[in-house]
Amino acid sequence: TGFDLIKLDNFGEFHNEHPDVITGLEFERLTNAAGPTKGKFVKPSNGERPKKVVFVQCVGSRDKSERGKSYCSKICCMYTAKHAMLIKDKYPDTEVYVFYIDVRTPGKNFDEFHRRAVEEYGVHYIKGMVGKVMPEGEKLMVQAVDSLSGTPLEIDADMVVLASATQAKPDAVALKRKLNISSDLNNFFTEAHPKLKPVETASAGIYLAGACQGPKDIPETVAQASAAAAKAIILLSKKELTNNACVSNVNKNICSGCKACSKMCPYDAISIKMMDIYEHGKVVRKEVAEVNEALCQGCGGCTVSCRPGAIDLKGFTNKQIMAEVDAICL
Ligand SMILES: Cc1cc2nc3c(=O)[nH]c(=O)nc-3n(C[C@H](O)[C@H](O)[C@H](O)COP(=O)(O)OP(=O)(O)OC[C@H]3O[C@@H](n4cnc5c(N)ncnc54)[C@H](O)[C@@H]3O)c2cc1C
Repeated sequence: TGFDLIKLDNFGEFHNEHPDVITGLEFERLTNAAGPTKGKFVKPSNGERPKKVVFVQCVGSRDKSERGKSYCSKICCMYTAKHAMLIKDKYPDTEVYVFYIDVRTPGKNFDEFHRRAVEEYGVHYIKGMVGKVMPEGEKLMVQAVDSLSGTPLEIDADMVVLASATQAKPDAVALKRKLNISSDLNNFFTEAHPKLKPVETASAGIYLAGACQGPKDIPETVAQASAAAAKAIILLSKKELTNNACVSNVNKNICSGCKACSKMCPYDAISIKMMDIYEHGKVVRKEVAEVNEALCQGCGGCTVSCRPGAIDLKGFTNKQIMAEVDAICL
C-alpha cells in the first residue's frame, strides 16, 4: 500500500495554505527534473529563487496530541539533510536552517551524511521547535526558540519546508479485513514476529513489504520486499505443499453451527456450511463448521471457543491429552 503524509489542516501555525510553505514531498517534486519546474528551485508564489530556506522537522511526528502521530516517521531526518545539501550544492549562497527535536541517524553512513550537511555544506541545524510561521509581504517570518541557548529566534525566510508525519494509507484498513491480517493502532500492518518473522503476517502466504508495515526508507523497503518475494517464491516453486498435521477437526454430529469458532479463527480457516449429516439413523440437513486444512495453523483457539466440544486439534484431542496425563501420573 505504501504510505501517506498527514494532512496539515490542524497545523494552522505553519500557514501551509501559503504557496511557499510546502511539504518535503512537494520539495521533492519541485527539485525533480521531471517535476513542474523541471527541477528549477523557485518559490511557487512568484518564480523567484529562495535565498533563505527553513526546514521544520517532526511536524506531527512524535506528537502525542490528537492532531499528530506518536511515532517517529523515521525518514525525515535523512531526507531533510538530503534536501538541505541539494540546495547548498546547487546554490551555495542560500542560507539553510533546519529546526529539529533530535537528529536521528541510525543507519549505515547516515551520521556521516548528516555531519556533511553541517560541516561541509554549512547548513544551520538548530535544536528547537518552530512556534509560528507568519507571512509578511514577500517573506515568511519563522518564530522559534533555540532550546540549547534558550534564545528566541525570528528568521525572515523565503520558503518553509515542513517534514510532515507519515501515516498508513486510508485503504489499509479495508485491505487488512480482506486479507484477514492484523494491524497496530496506527493501521500499519503487523508482522508475525518482530524479530524472527519480520515479513510474514499471521495469515499463511501473505507477506509484508515496505511502508505498509511502518515508516521506512528505500533500502529497508527493498530488503524487506526482496525477502517477501523470496518467501513467496519458496511457496510457489513447490509442486506440493506440506502442511502442519496438527490442524483442527470438527465432529459434525456434535457441531451446532453456532459460528463461535469461525468468528475467532485468526486465519479465516473455518467456514460454516449447510451439509447433510447422518445422525441417529437418519440424514439431517444443518449448518456445521468446516476447517480448511491448508489455512489452519493449528493454534487451537477454536477448540476452546467450541461450547459443544465439537472441535479437536489433531494430535491434541482431549482423549490424547488425558492419556498423556494418565501416563505421567500413573
Ligand atoms: C519527502 C520524502 C523524501 C524521501 N526521500 C528518500 C530518500 O532520499 N531515500 C530513501 O531511502 N527514502 C526516502 N523516502 C522514503 C521512501 O519514499 C519510502 O521508503 C518508500 O517510498 C517506501 O516504499 P513503498 O513501496 O513501501 O511505498 P510507496 O513508495 O508509497 O509505494 C507504494 C505504491 O503502491 C501503490 N498502491 C497503493 N495502493 C495500491 C492499490 N490498492 N493497488 C495498486 N497500487 C497501490 C501506490 O500508488 C504507490 O505507488 C522519502 C520519503 C519522503 C516523504
